[in-house]
Amino acid sequence: MNRFGNELNKLVNRSLDRHVRLAVTGLSRAGKTAFITSLVNQLMHVSTNPRLPLFSAVRDSNLLGAKRVPQIDMHVPKFGYEEGMNSLLSSPPSWPEPTRDVSQTRLALRYKPQKGPMKLLQETATLYLDIVDYPGEWLLDLPLLDLDFMAWSKQQAQAIKGKRLELAADWLAMEEEFDPLAPADEAKIEAISQRFTEYLFRCKAEGGLHWVQPGRFVLPGELAGAPVLQFFPMVWLDKYTEVQLAEAGEETNIGMLKSRYRYYQQHVVKAFYKEHFSKFDRQIILVDCLQPLNAGTESFNDMRQALDQLMQSFKYGRSSLLRRLFSPRIDKVLFAATKADHVTPEQHPNLVSLLQQLVNEAWQTASFEGIKMDCLSLSSIQATEPGFVDYQGKQVPALRGHTLGGEGKTLFPGEVPRRLPNDSFWQQSGFDFINFRPLDQQSDEPLPHIRMDKALEYLLGDKLR
Ligand code: GDP
Repeated sequence: MNRFGNELNKLVNRSLDRHVRLAVTGLSRAGKTAFITSLVNQLMHVSTNPRLPLFSAVRDSNLLGAKRVPQIDMHVPKFGYEEGMNSLLSSPPSWPEPTRDVSQTRLALRYKPQKGPMKLLQETATLYLDIVDYPGEWLLDLPLLDLDFMAWSKQQAQAIKGKRLELAADWLAMEEEFDPLAPADEAKIEAISQRFTEYLFRCKAEGGLHWVQPGRFVLPGELAGAPVLQFFPMVWLDKYTEVQLAEAGEETNIGMLKSRYRYYQQHVVKAFYKEHFSKFDRQIILVDCLQPLNAGTESFNDMRQALDQLMQSFKYGRSSLLRRLFSPRIDKVLFAATKADHVTPEQHPNLVSLLQQLVNEAWQTASFEGIKMDCLSLSSIQATEPGFVDYQGKQVPALRGHTLGGEGKTLFPGEVPRRLPNDSFWQQSGFDFINFRPLDQQSDEPLPHIRMDKALEYLLGDKLR
């Protein structure tokens, strides 16, 4: 009877086990790799973790433990947790290498159910947590599904001004010589695509710009070198009539560009939304607000535009693009301003307020049916210690840490604007955020962080009751 009881219990347990898919995204260097490494690390130390007071499952001792288990989606690369921890535990410690493609890891969380049928039927239950990491740049491609090649080309042509015009010079010069109506020349298309791709990379690396389309060109993952990533917008449009360009056959240069663009829409953009995005339950979007504040007004406005575009993917209004593709499931989105340890603690409320302003306008005007949204600031892996220094007889807040080169520093990096910065803010430019190296770390202790517990509560708290 006892054995039968045990078997029955196991069966009930299995049928009641639950599953949640948490997606983590953000533009490159927003802090996705650091966030996932810390999240897994905090959960792995759950039974002895004194650093999670705001995570109710831990505070109330309902979460009993977590372990890493093999992921189910075997075609998705594994998130490099061990590699990341090895970097953090090395001497001197270093930051984990960022991932450049989609990646995944799975945890089994054992907890004591507190309510509902779960509580009546079993003493403990398991929540399987799949954490999926993907580049935010991929979300910038959603609008492409609504634009044909010519409409996209026109949009791109209009965007080439300011810093972009300088950075595009080589590509534009090469494309000027290109005859779209001539027979398709694959080698020429490859060469111009290469210049166009270089331009996109330079927008990010040299221009501090974030809105880059097509997003896969800068983060190709397994598609690197494939013809589907070899096309470019036709921006020299004045030389031809619309009819000429519209009627050109498949065998012409423009015919080849159009067919690659269509392939990209169907097999890259749509495929990502269908295979991955449609299965997410919860989403955290990481935003580094400090880097564009350092880089200046154009970079800041560009990030704002990129965030607006990125938010289109959560617009589930009845006639939205996504509804036409599948029924989206994400019910909660958290926006997190990362690297909060780059500024002194009294600046954290400003950081949240700035992020709220960045995302709220788009949130208010769009239809985000059935999705809850919140904003917070956090540091996934705290690399500085806050304190005070004596300055002209006054105690002023400061941060202490080591630069990436290992030099000890104490500094006040600047004030974060509470509202979207105006001209006078940029003229004063009293801003200087530097990158710190991670603090020395013991392998048996959880990673130091700021408000990871608050993020965990928002994203998973209700799933562990
Ligand atoms: P990803 O490209 O979004 O995966 O970004 P990463 O997680 O690789 O983060 C990029 C860089 O930001 C890291 O190498 C660190 O220098 C920095 N960083 C990320 N998270 C934190 C944090 O919590 N605190 C500090 N001080 N720096 C961070």
